[in-house]
Amino acid sequence: MTLPQCDNPPTPQEAAGLRERYRVERERRVRPEGPGQYRSTTAEFGYFAADPYAHGGTGREPLHDEVDVAIVGGGFGGILAGAHLRRQGVARVRVIEKGGDFGGTWYWNRYPGVHCDIESHVYLPMLDETGYVPRWKYAPGEEIRRHAVRIAEQFDLYEDALFSTSVTSLTWDEDTEKWQVTTDRADAFHATHVIIATGTLTEPKLPGIPGIEEYRGHTFHTSRWDYGYTAGGPDGGLTGLAGKRVGVVGTGATGVQVVPKLAEDAGHLYVFQRTPSSVDVRGQRRMTPQDVGADRPGWAAERRENFLRIVSGEEAGQDLVTDRWTASAALLEKLLPSFRRAGEPDFEAAYEAADHAAMNRIRERVVREVADPATAAALQPWYRYACKRPTFSDTYLAAFNRDNVTLVDTADTHGIERMTERGVVVGGVEYELDCLVFATGFSVGVSGVTSGKLPVTGRQGVQLLHAWAERGPRTLHGFTSNGFPNLVRMGSLQNASSVNFTHILDEQALHAAALIAAALAKDALVEPTPEAEDAWIDVCSQGAPDHEWFHAECTPGYYNGEGRGRPNGPTAYSHGAVAFHELLRHWRENDLGEILRERRTCGG
Ligand code: NDP
Repeated sequence: MTLPQCDNPPTPQEAAGLRERYRVERERRVRPEGPGQYRSTTAEFGYFAADPYAHGGTGREPLHDEVDVAIVGGGFGGILAGAHLRRQGVARVRVIEKGGDFGGTWYWNRYPGVHCDIESHVYLPMLDETGYVPRWKYAPGEEIRRHAVRIAEQFDLYEDALFSTSVTSLTWDEDTEKWQVTTDRADAFHATHVIIATGTLTEPKLPGIPGIEEYRGHTFHTSRWDYGYTAGGPDGGLTGLAGKRVGVVGTGATGVQVVPKLAEDAGHLYVFQRTPSSVDVRGQRRMTPQDVGADRPGWAAERRENFLRIVSGEEAGQDLVTDRWTASAALLEKLLPSFRRAGEPDFEAAYEAADHAAMNRIRERVVREVADPATAAALQPWYRYACKRPTFSDTYLAAFNRDNVTLVDTADTHGIERMTERGVVVGGVEYELDCLVFATGFSVGVSGVTSGKLPVTGRQGVQLLHAWAERGPRTLHGFTSNGFPNLVRMGSLQNASSVNFTHILDEQALHAAALIAAALAKDALVEPTPEAEDAWIDVCSQGAPDHEWFHAECTPGYYNGEGRGRPNGPTAYSHGAVAFHELLRHWRENDLGEILRERRTCGG
């Protein structure tokens, strides 16, 4: 691995000045409530969480049958798990999905401008298997959603799927040695195996702004876009907003995509910003199959692995994707735990210099693109590159040059002060609005079992969260836990991740399917021993002190528990996703048998 490089390193005085500026800006933004400042849409504002896209299909009879595998969640995690199970020859696979169709994130997020800012040829999974070649470097959300449907169709996942259905409990039945699955549609069926693939950023959150209930204008969250009100679609044409005063709260990855589209059609758009995003060059363009060498078998897997190696800081030879993610690869290391660099002073100094140079370039871009100096100053981000999720847009900054767009900076008041029935108050000024859009993101890590919303009861009636209450989560490789046989979790716990999360999910799905197929073939149970869990926790406990230190000093956001530092400990595997995938492959080839246990009952 090479040290991060930069052409234009700041002088020691400039570096000291930047450190101090970052500290001051951080202090301006930290709120004492931390994550408690947010409110849950599902718990408190049900109408914000309702499904605007579901079309019928909810009047079916409850099911009381039995399947080989129940998969909770029909986003890419669940779809890929289903696809890999089919490839392993598993017959009865049932996906249970809250939304009205497959797609997960891409089912819910259909806001104007929605795209994926990871290159489509590495983000869309199973391109080799489906033969599909994306047309744009960065795919529109609808193309991604359709690809999710394509995979589900190709692997025959519709036949047994349950849509507009939420799993309400999972209970291990000792007599049958199967899982009893209940849902909010009165289903109660058995599954030999269960895969939990409920995602990590699924529950829309709202800021706890005083008076939020009082607002009488039209309002919705970006993940439940109300095209009935705005008209148009993800490509724009929001004619319903003509002549209207529209507000948008939030300038994260979603806000950066939405603002240019709202600006095109709103009578006047007020953008309420608390922390500016770093907005780098996007470079959207048409791509042909020749551009990616799509005539070669395995081209997509090779490209995806190349991207993973680069953004994980591994040697990759050439850079096939060549975008701002790969260009900033050395800086991205801090997003993910890595103890490889801890305590290396040369690395820290080179890293900081490259970080300062990269952020200077991003700040200079704002000044070049935004005409009004005060607006440009407010749009400049003052924190280190990996403190917040980087964003990419070639239209966001320019939107602030329009006469009908006003940036309202709320940093001095730690966000919007309060809301009234007419609009939003910042700095004592009331902004009257016909419509207010919340681009305020999602509760992190509360979906699925970890919130307790979906109770999982294992052997001897022990609930998963109770089993983990004292010593924290205990797993083997993040997938399986003692006391909870035939239950496989996907997601980000005690494993390794990457910015290209669909790649991570694909590897997890491959692993989950291999475990289940081996168990079904031998009529065995999948359950790690406590000793195997202990050994894995030890591996994960070799933490990432540089990463922890880095995030503790960052501006608040969901990466660091809103400014409280980021729990490290045994939450992740520290050697990165490339090594983790290799570890899993080796384990499957050599040690998989160790996790299989004899059943007491006859499987059938
Ligand atoms: P984020 O959580 O990233 O952003 C929420 C925004 O709301 C922030 O700008 C936040 O400000 C602001 N906010 C919260 N509370 C207040 C308040 N009281 N007053 C004013 N502003 C407030 O959500 P996003 O939906 O933008 O993104 C979530 C994640 O989804 C991304 O990080 C990314 O992982 C994913 N995503 C990916 C995309 C892709 O292309 N791959 C596209 C879009 C999203 P502050 O920063 O100060 O907290």
